[in-house]
Amino acid sequence: VEIEWEIINHRKIKIIINRTKNVISKSKLAHWAINHYIGCTHACLYCYAKYMCKIKPYGRWGSWVEIKINAPIYLKNRILPGIGALSSIVSDPYQPIEKRYELTRRVLEALDKRNTFWILTKSDLVLRDMDLLKEYRNVEVGITLNSFEKRIKKIFEPYAPDYEKRINTLQELRRNGIKNFCFISPIIPELTDVESLILETKDFVDGYWFEFLNLKGAGKRFREVLSRISYRSMEKLKSGSLLRKEIEDIVKKYGIRCEGIILHQ
Ligand code: SF4
Repeated sequence: VEIEWEIINHRKIKIIINRTKNVISKSKLAHWAINHYIGCTHACLYCYAKYMCKIKPYGRWGSWVEIKINAPIYLKNRILPGIGALSSIVSDPYQPIEKRYELTRRVLEALDKRNTFWILTKSDLVLRDMDLLKEYRNVEVGITLNSFEKRIKKIFEPYAPDYEKRINTLQELRRNGIKNFCFISPIIPELTDVESLILETKDFVDGYWFEFLNLKGAGKRFREVLSRISYRSMEKLKSGSLLRKEIEDIVKKYGIRCEGIILHQ
């Protein structure tokens, strides 16, 4: 393991360069996941992956990234069974460090192009790899989207690309014939306007996932901040079946394709 330091978004970030063979993991969301990065400098306040700081004691969530630098070597020409996820839960595959290391790009280059998987990101950097995405027949790219107003976004997702960039990314994916989906998450009643997101995106999005905030996974600090911003949001998040019904009604109203509604109660 080697340690380097990078300045990302005016912050000093610890980079842990690991040469492990261990790049394919189990996932609750797919048959397999390739986690070539662990850690994410988007540093979302609600991120459910911050539990990783207990396993990897490198510092606060968002202040470090572990890079499995040899991942492309171990993935060369591999065909993996079922449907997978390229980086999931523990990182964003197109976080800023990807600009320098191009590890996600090299993983896409290495894998057999017959694999079926999805990529979920908040970043327009995924557009850089359009040439490779086009070589796969069964890849879908999802963009996480929310309608947080600027002041809230600054607190919840301080270093993630802004809303306009994410919308533009969905449009570009569509223009280039790459199947896309919108991951509306984390839905926080009072703060997320699901209907307006659908109205704005339905003409260029293939499908939608809806995920309500996982209050437990978001952690104590986030719960404290949210209760200061909007106590009603906390209360509403506990009314599970009503929340599902609201989404089902919107899906019906606009005739969009719903891939799933995730509630964490
Ligand atoms: S972009 Fe995703 S993985 Fe990265 S900090 Fe935000 S929620 Fe966590």
